[in-house]
Amino acid sequence: QNKERKIDGSASQGSTVDPKAAQLFKAKNVLSQALVQEEFSLCYQPQVNISSGEIHGMEALLRWKHPRFGQVSPSKFIPLAEETDLIIPIGKWVLKTACIQNQAWQKIGLPAVPVSVNLSPRQLQHPDLVKMVGQVLDETGLAPHWLELEITEAALMQDLELARKVMRELQQLGVSISMDDFGIGCSSLGYLKQLPFHTLKIAQSFVRELKDDSQDAALLSALITLGRSLNLRVVAEGVETEQQVELLRSLHCEEMQGYRFSKPLQAEEAAKFLALSPIV
Ligand code: C2E
Ligand code: MG
Ligand code: MG
Ligand code: MG
Repeated sequence: QNKERKIDGSASQGSTVDPKAAQLFKAKNVLSQALVQEEFSLCYQPQVNISSGEIHGMEALLRWKHPRFGQVSPSKFIPLAEETDLIIPIGKWVLKTACIQNQAWQKIGLPAVPVSVNLSPRQLQHPDLVKMVGQVLDETGLAPHWLELEITEAALMQDLELARKVMRELQQLGVSISMDDFGIGCSSLGYLKQLPFHTLKIAQSFVRELKDDSQDAALLSALITLGRSLNLRVVAEGVETEQQVELLRSLHCEEMQGYRFSKPLQAEEAAKFLALSPIV
């Protein structure tokens, strides 16, 4: 058995390579390869206003098809992209692709709707984020009000002051910001009041677990009321059934995203869906 000397002089046990480091090293290679080999694509999921039937937005969702492993779920590879910092170039690719697509749809006369792009905590903390967003808007020619950036509470937790500064700068660019997965964290309330959010996306779990349980409905109702009283646009995520639609409607939440309306669609399918708006 090989015994390696660590920097501090102590002998390490077993294998000479830290398995976690080795795994990340591998992930970094595979993911940077994926970017070069164009294995990434975007799907788009419509956000529907149920009273007008109009589509009020499209969320861009990253997809990765590895040549041998097939589709890999974002919940698996996004954390790896974060840990290896590859989320920076990948995130830029996502933003640029989404902006180009939105421009292209508007140019062929489809109803103009904003595109939402997810930002990871690492991206929000990156010193060049605002510059990068401005550059992509310039390069693609997309007007800033067609872009919405989605951030989660995790991105705010790290450094609230920095988040506040960056969000203000993004807002000054003319981009709007939504809070994704709202309700899951514990301190969302304070953040909401202090930061320039435009949209509140209510986490799937609050919508999904709705049955006849009146406690769940009360919680959902409170979240919706909170968003509305702060003058935020409120979107319910993960809406799957007609029963959920009806309950949300009765709670005055009219904007919804979920399988009930559409799964995330490849660009061509998404364009067909857009062409149908209003969908009632
Ligand atoms: P998210 O931003 O909250 O996106 C919503 C997720 O819910 C998507 O999963 C979507 O496919 C799924 N979904 C939508 N409607 C329904 C429904 O009715 N029922 C159920 N069960 N699920 C529904 P997806 O595409 O697997 O993405 C998962 C997460 O990965 C996203 O959650 C987001 O946090 C992250 N992600 C995806 N694309 C990107 C990206 O380009 N950049 C970053 N940083 N994160 C991304
Ligand atoms: Mg999102
Ligand atoms: Mg979400
Ligand atoms: Mg999320």
